[in-house]
Amino acid sequence: MAKIPVGVLGATGMVGQQYIALLANHPWFEVKYAAASPRSAGKKYKDAVAGRWNASGGDYQKEVGELIVGDANDLSQAAAAFKAGNCAFVFSALEMGKDEIRALEEAYAGAGIPVISNASAHRWTADVPMLIAEVNPDHVDIIPAQRKKRGWDKGFIAVKPNCSIQSYMTPLYALIKAGYEIKRLTVTTLQAVSGAGYPGVPSLDMIDNIVPYIGGEEEKSEQEPLKILGSIKDGAIISVTEPKISAHCNRVPVVDGHTACVSLEFGPKKPSIDEVKKIWTSFKSLPQELDLPMAPKQPIIVREENDRPQPRKDRDADKAMAVTVGRIRPCNVFDLRFVGLSHNTVRGAAGGGILNAELLKHKGYI
Ligand code: NAP
Repeated sequence: MAKIPVGVLGATGMVGQQYIALLANHPWFEVKYAAASPRSAGKKYKDAVAGRWNASGGDYQKEVGELIVGDANDLSQAAAAFKAGNCAFVFSALEMGKDEIRALEEAYAGAGIPVISNASAHRWTADVPMLIAEVNPDHVDIIPAQRKKRGWDKGFIAVKPNCSIQSYMTPLYALIKAGYEIKRLTVTTLQAVSGAGYPGVPSLDMIDNIVPYIGGEEEKSEQEPLKILGSIKDGAIISVTEPKISAHCNRVPVVDGHTACVSLEFGPKKPSIDEVKKIWTSFKSLPQELDLPMAPKQPIIVREENDRPQPRKDRDADKAMAVTVGRIRPCNVFDLRFVGLSHNTVRGAAGGGILNAELLKHKGYI
């Protein structure tokens, strides 16, 4: 099967580099177009990332290093690549003003180029699915309504949620799927510096320190799960109203891997700790059933040791796509406590975006 040519917008950044690295040996997709800011545009990719290559997923391919970086703001460049058969869809990993990203992603989709985005700009657009492939794969079914409403023929926009919620969203969903209502939860996140992009947080703020604030992150953590757990009605995704979530988000001196300490309260039916472990260990979803290339074989890994999960030891589990949970125990205030961990630039960003693209291909949208 000939590989599908793809473009990466923001290809020189922390997430963009991870896309380039993870797509190097992908069985379905190959990178043929790379774009970034006007600062990088016109340079060879290898020169644009020289001295700032940070992808944990590996190196870039020689051919990608030779690509001339386009200006992501100049749609005509992507349109030419699209017309030449070098860009069937784009992954968007841009970091710029929300309004600018929103307009730009709509322009790409309007030009017939599907956009699979990591940016937050369209997460709250009612007809845009915010996908975690294991949790709400059915939300891709809103795409025909999105296209119809906007008069788009082939283009569409699908986004990923915030990276930190992915450390506990799949475990929560597995419990809900098993029939347990979750009423309330508190979560304290310990988020890696790579989550702030490159160069990110100044080293003097980060070494020997913890920063107890990440702009906008707590609001995202409290709201995004409600849309992901929602359902499609009349061409819009309607959020659920529970669980009620209270989040504390902290930046910690870890390179990759977001940790989340969660306490939750169930509805009247409460599972035992053994039942919770069984639900998580046996959880499988559509990406596993379809055996999608980027899907982890085991989406939730349960660790029994007292001192796991740990970012350095667990973030790379199953292609860095699994969520690792541990310290599963009763809670004195709510019902259950646990610690979740996932790789923020892979599971929480580029790897998750690639998995979404695989799902969308399977569903016939790309
Ligand atoms: P980053 O390292 O700062 O990279 C930003 C990218 O956007 C670079 O390629 C940069 O190009 C490009 N860019 C900046 N200004 C631009 C402009 N005016 N016009 C066109 N392109 C421009 O950021 P990141 O961490 O990769 O994040 C990228 C996106 O993913 C953000 O929306 C972020 O919120 C989201 N995200 C990040 C993570 C994570 O763990 N880091 C996780 C989930 C989601 P130059 O190199 O040419 O400046």
